Amino acid sequence: MITAEAVIDLNALRNNFALLKSHCDSDTKVIAVLKGDAYGHNAIQVARALPNADMFAVSRIEEAIELRSADILQPILLLEGCFCPEDLQLAAQLSLHTTIHCIEQLQDFEQTPLTQHTSVWLKLDTGMHRLGVQADEINTYVTRLEKSGKIAGNIGFISHFSCADIPSSHTTPAQLERFKTQTQAYQGMKTLANSAGILYWPESHFDAVRAGIALYGIAPNVDEIGQHHHLTPVMTLQSRLIAVRRHQANQPVGYGENWTSDRETYIGVIAMGYGDGYPRSAPNGTPVYINGRIVPISGRISMDMITVDLGPDATDQVGDCVELWGQHVPIEQVAKLVGTIPYELVIQLTRRVARTFINE
Ligand SMILES: *Cc1c(COP(=O)(O)O)cnc(C)c1O
Repeated sequence: MITAEAVIDLNALRNNFALLKSHCDSDTKVIAVLKGDAYGHNAIQVARALPNADMFAVSRIEEAIELRSADILQPILLLEGCFCPEDLQLAAQLSLHTTIHCIEQLQDFEQTPLTQHTSVWLKLDTGMHRLGVQADEINTYVTRLEKSGKIAGNIGFISHFSCADIPSSHTTPAQLERFKTQTQAYQGMKTLANSAGILYWPESHFDAVRAGIALYGIAPNVDEIGQHHHLTPVMTLQSRLIAVRRHQANQPVGYGENWTSDRETYIGVIAMGYGDGYPRSAPNGTPVYINGRIVPISGRISMDMITVDLGPDATDQVGDCVELWGQHVPIEQVAKLVGTIPYELVIQLTRRVARTFINE
């Protein structure tokens, strides 16, 4: 019997993609961000479910190779570019779009013989101060890249927001202005918006937007849930009860005795734990959905098991299905209780969690 399982609804994914596209002007391209195995959703399945995505984006060349090996033919952008000349040659062979964010990458591009003209995006630092070239360097980079004679089409321009998930942020309008000013002299495509940019900052859409977390039905800000934006969760993390136990009042449950029942009740034991990637730091009271109601996690998360208080009148049975997050338990709510963000929750699911794809 399959217990721990991430059910991936590819129809929800397609609906989210269409919804995000509808937020943009009709000529704005939507780049589906598939890094981290599509945020734990399986990059190949997600790519196949989005035949009309204009482009995909990943962080490392290995992720792009995996997609090309699965016959995914759309353009794929390497968000951080190539980290050595060999990777650059491979990127050219596989028709990947590469990013250039630093002098070493520029020199590699100039000096490495490439079998094909290659699409290049210049990464600009507009305020995140993590990667990217500075305003006064742009012209030099553009000139040298063009002089290399190896570029396919025009150089594209990419930058990244640091605070777009905070609607009251003053940094975001400042980054937007800098991006506009720094790129207006150039013909190539411009892309600035992540999911938060798409949803909260319509002026940031430019020629292409990069949809990551929202594509998976998750709000970029944990004070909201995806449904507030009419997004549908793509992943349901579920498992099953492996025990329903009569439990006396004033008796603790689990490691460290960190929860004690104040009444006689039934404790449900779920086949799910931090060994599956469920966060060990989930506190008592974290919601779990079973048989039409929410019940609280009660007792510390174990490697393979979670205990919940089913209540004194429980009629739940061994084998019943339990939702840890999905339609009934927003992942944003779990993330908030745990003190993290949904990005981390979806990406840290382990291999032991079966992936099932529905509505292909
Ligand atoms: C991950 C990433 C995105 C997608 O961000 P979301 O918040 O998940 O939409 C966009 N651009 C870059 C450069 C990224 O690294």
